Amino acid sequence: MSQHSIANLLNSTTAAGTLPALETRLLMMHVLNKTRIQLITQADYELSDSELNALQLLIDRRVQGEPIAYLIGQREFFGLMLQVTPDVLIPRPDTELLVELGLQYAPPNSTVLDLGTGSGAIAIALAHQRADLQVWACDISQAALAVAQNNAVTHQCKITLLKSDWYAQLPDMQWQTIVSNPPYIVQHDPHLSQGDLRFEPINALTDHADGLSAYRQLIAGAVSRLTEDGWLLLEHGYDQAQAVRALLTEHQFINVQSWCDIAGIERVSVGQRHSI
Ligand code: GLN
Repeated sequence: MSQHSIANLLNSTTAAGTLPALETRLLMMHVLNKTRIQLITQADYELSDSELNALQLLIDRRVQGEPIAYLIGQREFFGLMLQVTPDVLIPRPDTELLVELGLQYAPPNSTVLDLGTGSGAIAIALAHQRADLQVWACDISQAALAVAQNNAVTHQCKITLLKSDWYAQLPDMQWQTIVSNPPYIVQHDPHLSQGDLRFEPINALTDHADGLSAYRQLIAGAVSRLTEDGWLLLEHGYDQAQAVRALLTEHQFINVQSWCDIAGIERVSVGQRHSI
């Protein structure tokens, strides 16, 4: 078997350095534009010099800590393969809870707004599951909106994308459901300078304050941006449920409640705008 065949490279420890086999396989699929199955059925395929170089470069970058999703430019979320770039947060499995709740809370044929959409993951998953919804999504970052737009086109979702600093530049209208996964990590959290987070857009991760400033703005603004009886659904950090519920209650939201993710952690808090 040749030294530079797929099979040999996947077996050799030198090529992959310290990478887990799964990650080497993902990088190889990307460089060779082959599926997981093709890597097996075409295991004798010999990599060209340029393919070898490209693979080695990605392996080196991964060893330095760059997230695999940025290296291969995609990540699966809610069953959809999404483009991701360093301009957007990498969609997390935790956030699928927010999508599931959005699907439950949004009435038939209603409007939904996703604030700080990033890659468009939440908005696109909602629109993809529910053709009856009219989905709007905004982000302050033009670069993120370009990624979201691309993902919406790929998955043939008609969502309205707008550049806006939360509600500031949105048209004068109200939505029946508002969802958001805002930046919620506290300013000095050591995790921001560790692991994958080092490579993600800092403004998508932290509010550069106590981790709650986005919620203060989103909750205060939702009072006039939700239709009567509309629901606000907010993802938050593992220790923020109580603080977010308190903010919702302070702004006269009713039926305030938190929902747990698959790890049993309170991950999304919801509240309903009361009828006047
Ligand atoms: N869930 C992300 C993390 O803890 C944070 C994303 C966010 O701030 N919305 O890694």
